[in-house]
This record gives sequence, structure tokens and C-alpha cells, in this order.
Amino acid sequence: MSKNRDLPPMHPASAMDFLPPAQLRDVQFTRLKEMVQRAFDHVALFRKRMDEKRLKPSDLRTLDDIVKLPFTVKTDLRDTYPFGLCASPMKDIVRFHASSGTTGKPIVVAYTQEDLNDWTRAIVRSLAACGVHNNDIIQVAYGYGLFTGGLGLHYGAEALGASVIPISGGNTDRQIMLMKDFGVTVICCTPSYFLHLIDRAAEMGVNIKDLPLRTGVFGAEPWTEDMRERIEAGSGIKAYDIYGLSEIVGPGVANECTYQAGPHIFEDMFYPEIIDPKTLEPMPDGTEGELVLTTLCKRAMPMIRYRTRDITSLEPTRCACGRTLRRIRRIGRRSDDMLIIRGVNLFPSQIEAALLKVEGTLPHYQIVLTREADLDQMEVQVEVTPDVFSDEVRGLEELKKKLVHSIETVTGIRAALRLVAPHTIQRSEGKAKRVIDKRKM
Ligand SMILES: [Zn+2]
Repeated sequence: MSKNRDLPPMHPASAMDFLPPAQLRDVQFTRLKEMVQRAFDHVALFRKRMDEKRLKPSDLRTLDDIVKLPFTVKTDLRDTYPFGLCASPMKDIVRFHASSGTTGKPIVVAYTQEDLNDWTRAIVRSLAACGVHNNDIIQVAYGYGLFTGGLGLHYGAEALGASVIPISGGNTDRQIMLMKDFGVTVICCTPSYFLHLIDRAAEMGVNIKDLPLRTGVFGAEPWTEDMRERIEAGSGIKAYDIYGLSEIVGPGVANECTYQAGPHIFEDMFYPEIIDPKTLEPMPDGTEGELVLTTLCKRAMPMIRYRTRDITSLEPTRCACGRTLRRIRRIGRRSDDMLIIRGVNLFPSQIEAALLKVEGTLPHYQIVLTREADLDQMEVQVEVTPDVFSDEVRGLEELKKKLVHSIETVTGIRAALRLVAPHTIQRSEGKAKRVIDKRKM
């Protein structure tokens, strides 16, 4: 299987990744006009918002006119639950997915057969970009079902011609057995679940480094560059970032190439903008803001200027791989994940980066928030390596001091810190639970 390393990271479907910029803009504008007309004709909420702005689809004269269009936000999906944003009749809709909301009703998304074919193509391009080929054996350990992760990767991996193991999430011991017995070369799951697999494999006497596994396609939760280093060092594989969200399609909106320099957005299908989340004004490439995406092909449920809540920037420079698609800086934070502690804004990924910069820690941590006498308290729990844990008290105190300092440098907050033994923090089989907020309880 190692011969795959020498094959170029592309597939015939990847041709669109290399479109000359002027041609790409032509494709985008043609598709945008069709999409806006479709939403205007079939989605009452979109038509109402266009009417309020006194806009008609024909007012789109160039691609840049997209900034005139109204935004779509997550609550629009909730408010129109379940089918209010559908632009296709039920006879054309062949699949639904849904993401569990934190409260109440889920968010529902719909697909026509053509939408599923487009999604499959996006996954083919995603996997091809990070060097996955038809002779790879792919273990899809994302959850199958209403969540878009499992089935999304599944059909794309099959269309690529790879051999797919549809194992879904969980059943960790069996995952490791199949990985070893089948000679799995590629795994798709959340980065936190892969860390759990590495640990569990070691307990079972299996060293992942000895297996043919060479590539991980990780997503569905924010993770840092420090986490990537830990994963690669601990497993000997290359870890790539796949980005997506069910409101837009699921995984496959963007994927890293073998240069690992941030996910390339499949711009001919998903038009990206960066806006200032406060003023909602567009921002130039290279500046940080909220990612806004417009689906350029989706028929069943077009999303026009959807505010993702993901904070990132569009890289202004061309990637060394030659793709003309722009890259987003890897998403370390979502505005939804923002914590406010004693009036200071903070993201869990900042804590992750601060912890993993210090030697002796393991990439398993949890943030516990409480309120005492009306004052927010933050305790950060982190696992430490077995040798550190068995060290004398002085060594532990030293490490604790270093970590408190590292967190304070990154966030400006002095946290209480608790070092815990390996395997103390509960492992997740899907998205990791990094924060326990007891302030509202
Ligand atoms: Zn690239």
C-alpha cells in the first residue's frame, strides 16, 4: 500500500481544483445567479428578505454583488423546521440529515439525488487532495445516521474506488482489530476519537506506528496545530483537516492538501466570504472574521450567505500544490464555543494550545467552570504522562506552575490547574466535550 505515497494527490474530479481564477469566477457567477433565482422562486423566507431589501435576482450583475444579498443564520433553520427552507418538491428529495441542537428541535437538511452526487464529488476531491487513492482501505469511524459525517465520507470514499469499512463510531476494540487485520491505510474520525484509539491500541498491545495506517482525515470539531503535532508524533501518520457543516452539505466543504497549510475550499461549489461579525461588512483576504458560505449547486436546500460562526481568514497567497482554490486558516474557534470568564473572551482551543506547548502533558483536557461568590472560577484539568505522574511532588508543582503561566500568557486568565493521571478524563467516541459549565446549573 505504501506505493500510494508516490502517486500524485489528485483524481480526475480534482481538475476543478486547478481552474484559472477568471474561469472560476465565471463558473461561480453563473451558478450563483441560478441559485438565487431558485431560492427566490421557492423559499418564502428568502423571497421576503429580498423584497425587504427591494432586491430581485436580476440585480446581481457581477459576482461582487453577492454582498447585497441577505444573510441566512442558524435560527432560520430552526424557525422553519422541518422543511421551510426546501426549494425542491418532496418527490425530488431523496435524503435528510439532521444535527442535534443543544435545545429542542434539530436542524434538518435535505438533498436531491444531484445534491448527493455533488457532495460525493466534493468528498472525492477532499480525499484525493490529501493523497488518498483507489487502492486505499478506508475505515470510516464517523457516526453513521442523521449525522452527515459517516454517510458523507462513505459515498465519497466508494466513488474514489477505495475499499470502505463502514464501522461508524464506537466499538473501539473492534476498530483496532479491523484496523490491524484489514491493513487499514486511512481513517476518518474526529481528532479526539483518534487519540482515544491510539491509547486503547497501546493498552491492547498494538502500536499504531507498526500498522500500514498512514493518513487520518479528521474533522467535526475544532483542533489546533499543537494537537496535529501530538497526533502525528503519537501515531506516525499524516493528519489532515477536513471542514464542513451540515447546513452547507456536511464534510467536504474544504480539505487540506498534502502541504497541510489549511483546508482548500471547493469554491466552485461553496462561495466563501469573510465578514466582520459585528458590522457584517465584508473583509479582505488575510483578515480574520466570520466565515460566510453560499452553496452554488445545492438544489434541495440552497443556503445563501450562511453565517457559519466559524472564525477564520482566507489565505491571500497561492498554495504550493498549485490549486487555485483559496484556503481557510484552520478553524480553531467557533463563536458559539466562546466562553466569557470574568468578562474575558476565551476559546477552548486557546487552552488546548497553551497546555500542549508544555512538555509532560497528554492531549486530554477538560475545562470546568463554576461560580463562587458571584465570581467565575475556571479549573483546567489535564492528563500528564505516566512518568511525570509518578514523579515526586516537586516535579508536579513545577509542571503545574509552567502550565498556569502558559494559560495566563495565552488567555490573560489565571486558572486553577489540576494534573490528573492518564485515562482520568472521559474519552469521547464522537465530538470531545471540552467544557463543563456548572455556572448555569
Ligand atoms: Zn494546497
